[in-house]
Amino acid sequence: MADHYETLGVSRDASADEIKKAYRKLARQLHPDVNPSPEAADTFKNVTHAYDVLSDPRQRAEYDAGGRNPFGSAGGFGGFGDIFDSFFGGGGGGGRGPRSRQERGEDALLRIEVDLIDVMFGSTKQIDVDTAVLCETCEGSCCQPGTSPVTCDICHGTGQVQRTVRSLLGNVVTASPCGTCRGYGTVIPNPCVTCQGQGRVRARRTVSVDIPSGVDTGLRLQMPGSGEVGPGGGPSGDLYLEIKVRHDDVFSRNGDDILCTLEVSMADAILGTTSTINALDGDVELEVRPGVQSGDVLVIKGRGITALRSSNRGDLRVGVQVVTPTKLDHKERDLIRSFSERRREPAPQLAHFQQGLFAKLRDRFVS
Ligand code: ZN
Repeated sequence: MADHYETLGVSRDASADEIKKAYRKLARQLHPDVNPSPEAADTFKNVTHAYDVLSDPRQRAEYDAGGRNPFGSAGGFGGFGDIFDSFFGGGGGGGRGPRSRQERGEDALLRIEVDLIDVMFGSTKQIDVDTAVLCETCEGSCCQPGTSPVTCDICHGTGQVQRTVRSLLGNVVTASPCGTCRGYGTVIPNPCVTCQGQGRVRARRTVSVDIPSGVDTGLRLQMPGSGEVGPGGGPSGDLYLEIKVRHDDVFSRNGDDILCTLEVSMADAILGTTSTINALDGDVELEVRPGVQSGDVLVIKGRGITALRSSNRGDLRVGVQVVTPTKLDHKERDLIRSFSERRREPAPQLAHFQQGLFAKLRDRFVS
């Protein structure tokens, strides 16, 4: 057995870095992938053993002291995985190595329709989500109960296979995921039957969703951890719910205000009346003053939508629309005609813009 320092071609006071460099240089020449001759394989074994001893400060000290255990305390040659661990594992901070079977699940986006009344005060909805959930048979282990993954024979658990490629820069060692275990470092001899070894199964799950008051169409609620369970039973992704507030036939919305239109007959508009309207959150008494005009807005304070993250409510804004009667009989037409003659009503004329309908729409409906 040659001296370990001679085998590596370094002096007895070589630094750890020099030893590593010397070993890499020799390994590039002698690795069986590069040099298939049996002599090279033997020399490579010796080189590797020498490196195993000299790269371990404790073993190197023992060796220097003369305790020349020919196989070192590490037990000698341990397969190519060990060698390349020393190439790549060194200062790399564990960036390489087998990848985990567990991955984070995908986020999911779901559109959810709610009614105006749901956003007026906020509400809780039960929604069905088609998603991936943890497999109950294997609890995410991907193995049939009672079995477990075994170390991959091909990559010896590293999850990677090394290949030496000749290039212009010399021999380059490249690593690629092991095809046998797909980089996991282990294979599953008995995959769980329920989930086909995925650790998760597709299922329909009911999720309880708190719809906050004041939300509007397009807003997305994030529910952390309510997305699908990851491969291998990995942590769940997030669930995003995109809100769509359903169109209502009677009520619409402007910010936190609720808008609606009250049809008032010509006679009621002239004489005034009271009316009870069925608002989203219950009945509202309305006082229609005599002489109310089309486009007038009755404002009922605090009967609108509760603002987002607040207890303040918008208003209910009731726009008046005076309904002109149609299909009059002879008697009615005579009554209106004599009314008009008595009133000496002016001919149609242009109004000042600020008194007009468009100004009212602009100024009163949109606060
Ligand atoms: Zn399973």
